[in-house]
Amino acid sequence: MYELRFDEDMCFACGTYDCLVKCQHLELDPEMARIEIEKIIHSEDSFVLHDCVTCYACEEYCPNGNHPFYLIVQKQEELNISPLPEPLIKQGVQMGIPFRGEPEIQEINGTALNMGVFSQLTNRVQGRLFEGLTIMSDDPRKMFHYFCQLMYLHYGKTSVINERLKKVIDTIAAHKVTEVVHFHDECFGTYTSYAPAFGIDVPFKSIHLFEYLFNKLEELKSDIKPLNYKVAYQRPCSSRLSSDKHRFVSKIFDLIGVEPVDREYVDENAMCCGATIMGQKKEGSRQYCAEIQRKNIEDMKSAGAQICVFNCPACMQTLGKPVSKTGIMPLFMSDLCRLAIGEKVA
Ligand code: SF4
Ligand code: SF4
Repeated sequence: MYELRFDEDMCFACGTYDCLVKCQHLELDPEMARIEIEKIIHSEDSFVLHDCVTCYACEEYCPNGNHPFYLIVQKQEELNISPLPEPLIKQGVQMGIPFRGEPEIQEINGTALNMGVFSQLTNRVQGRLFEGLTIMSDDPRKMFHYFCQLMYLHYGKTSVINERLKKVIDTIAAHKVTEVVHFHDECFGTYTSYAPAFGIDVPFKSIHLFEYLFNKLEELKSDIKPLNYKVAYQRPCSSRLSSDKHRFVSKIFDLIGVEPVDREYVDENAMCCGATIMGQKKEGSRQYCAEIQRKNIEDMKSAGAQICVFNCPACMQTLGKPVSKTGIMPLFMSDLCRLAIGEKVA
């Protein structure tokens, strides 16, 4: 089975312990963080394993490219510390089983757009920005041939991901794709961060949706009319696995003439949507989730945002309604880009 490539010596020599010191959900000073990370490395019980809300952010906070979050999840499983209630884990793990029936394989020999688990959202990838891309998607009633499985990090189950991921990769590769644009940021994180961290081979090149959109907008530059909106961007947890691609958010905003609002929960300090915190089994999780969602939305509002831009459909599902209740319009980034080139979005 696949082993996490985690550099323990790097942690023993770490001067900052930023992975845990910067955590927005736990309070640790550098000395506490040193003690807890060493406990985790040695498979000893640590309050971090119980209280982590699985926001993925420590993957970005580590300045050394180590994998503290993957380590936390792996140790949660090893020590039988599950972040979610057992019935929810059982049901969720069952639900995402890939390969019920055979996927339809069509040779693509070029660039494909992988819809991941969101085959029902092909209406979000229409118009000139997506012309010429072959879409890989499932029968929406099954939906799991392209499901990257990374969601099970929230369930404390690297074993489930590691058992299923190779077959999903083989299904994508069977299309003979040279490059894959991933509709869902979490798929991009799977193939460019998680898989290499566990030594899982990925035989295709992955392109982040925002990098793809930026390049297409550059091609269509003469058709762009500045939108002049004030926007807030809701960063998804999985974007912490590809923080080098986060720069494309401001590059796109510059190109289409929108102004990012000056707010507290932005960039490295972004607040997750809270979807998984809601379901966690710890006492007070629901209230904590409501509290961080309230702070996040109030922050957008008081900064003057007119639009909240989403990357992840799960964040949109969680925060879209409450955001719109405050008068801020929720929009996918791809739809915002389409508006900038004069296309209508439904
Ligand atoms: S995971 Fe990174 S930040 Fe955390 S202790 Fe190890 S090297 Fe330091
Ligand atoms: S995943 Fe988030 S909550 Fe958990 S330790 Fe890392 S930064 Fe903290």
